Amino acid sequence: MHIRDKIPTIGSPIERRLAADYGAIFITTATAAPKIIFKDDAEVRAFQALLDVRRFTLGSYEIELQAVAVEGLIAATNVAAEGGKEIGARAADSGARAYGDTLALWNRNVSRGLDHWITEGKLTAERARSVRDLAGTEQVRAVLEMEDSEDIYFSTYFDKSILYSVAAPGASQHLSLLAVDISEYQDERIEAILAGHGWYRTVTSDLPHFTYLGHPESDLPGLGLRLSTLRYDSHTYRFWTADLDAAGI
Ligand SMILES: [Zn+2]
Repeated sequence: MHIRDKIPTIGSPIERRLAADYGAIFITTATAAPKIIFKDDAEVRAFQALLDVRRFTLGSYEIELQAVAVEGLIAATNVAAEGGKEIGARAADSGARAYGDTLALWNRNVSRGLDHWITEGKLTAERARSVRDLAGTEQVRAVLEMEDSEDIYFSTYFDKSILYSVAAPGASQHLSLLAVDISEYQDERIEAILAGHGWYRTVTSDLPHFTYLGHPESDLPGLGLRLSTLRYDSHTYRFWTADLDAAGI
């Protein structure tokens, strides 16, 4: 098995960028999405309907994920409990999401960004409206192009790409029911326990976000993933991402 054999067809520069940011998930031993980005709610529902799904309580919230991913998480919480630690979900939407959830998060950032850049004088109200009126992938393309070519950014603090703050709608790993946002993400012991049960950070800079890959960590380089680390607030965070260039993708 290798990421180059598992990653769906990449049909555009935007899909390639999304694959670079979120693509590690396609090496999962669970069921990966059939495409880089879902086009709409109907596509997401059709995919989620095929999955073997299990609900469970993680800390204060009940969440829903693919059954095999839940099994890994339950085993991890048991090991953590033996060491007197808890693994909890950050919020009610920390596990499964619907397409509409990812769209709402995206729209919130885009809308705040457009307002900000009008105030800054870098966008006219008319141009902002034309971006607001775009739908789905067309709007994703317009936003990422503004970031790339005009330095008009849509992250939470308007200083870098929106993809650092929120996934493109239809490309969130939460749609695959293989991602969970963890409260104790700063605890390196929790990170190691999760890794021991197939759960890893796979989205650079999204610190609480873990993805179910299901493989032992020592296998990940051979599957086409690359380890990077981020030092932040006296913690070192580890990320496994898809190395597209090295994989010849
Ligand atoms: Zn997440």
